[in-house]
Amino acid sequence: MKPGNELLFLALGGSGEIGMNVNLYGCQGKWIMVDLGMTFADPAYPGIDLVLPDLAFIEQNRKDLLGIVLTHGHEDHIGAIPYLAADLGVPLYATPFTAGLIAGKLEEEGLLDKVKLKLIELGGDFQLGPFGLRYVALAHSIPEGNALVIDTPYGRIFHTGDWKLDDSPQLGDPSTPEELMHIGDEGVLALVCDSTNVFQDHASGSEATVREGLDRVIGEAEGRVLVTTFASNAARVKTLGHVAQDTGLQV
Ligand SMILES: [Zn+2]
Repeated sequence: MKPGNELLFLALGGSGEIGMNVNLYGCQGKWIMVDLGMTFADPAYPGIDLVLPDLAFIEQNRKDLLGIVLTHGHEDHIGAIPYLAADLGVPLYATPFTAGLIAGKLEEEGLLDKVKLKLIELGGDFQLGPFGLRYVALAHSIPEGNALVIDTPYGRIFHTGDWKLDDSPQLGDPSTPEELMHIGDEGVLALVCDSTNVFQDHASGSEATVREGLDRVIGEAEGRVLVTTFASNAARVKTLGHVAQDTGLQV
């Protein structure tokens, strides 16, 4: 199926579920893919560890696919790359930290010379056919969490990736509310956004509040303290380093 003189959004994964983010935008005969993630299986799939997205639609239309643009380095956004990107045969685009994680995966699978990986600087822009793309930094739990401004002849999409609005972010230099409002003032056709706890009706806390809570609980604890977190939650790992300093403990 070839997109006509129109702008199409097609989620192949990640909408209505956590993980496995794969989104397509179509315009004037061409497609771009945003993210290529996988998800971890739950007890509904006994004996299965990883679940990969079903790319049958875009595999049938791969000649019209221009590239895969990665928002950030979490597994649910880049995890399927080593399994599926080589067959799609298009270049990947990522900011430096994300690109480093992807390069490690490609090297592990012996794919470094089979998959082209193009580096885009933070805040950088580039053009893929009818799509003008620009990375916009947002606060997230891994370095270089990015949204994408996607300009097309039919309007502008603001595609957030994973994000939160955090007054005291622990990682990186996210866009200010003023910078985000400026993008809105220029005119946005649609906001395509992803947020795990979108159905909670209260604001999510700042990572800085987590540090205060951990300082208190760990400060009161006796002896050895065990804390678990996703290893890829770099902001939390950094917080734990600070908490160790605050409480005179060793990590
Ligand atoms: Zn994420």
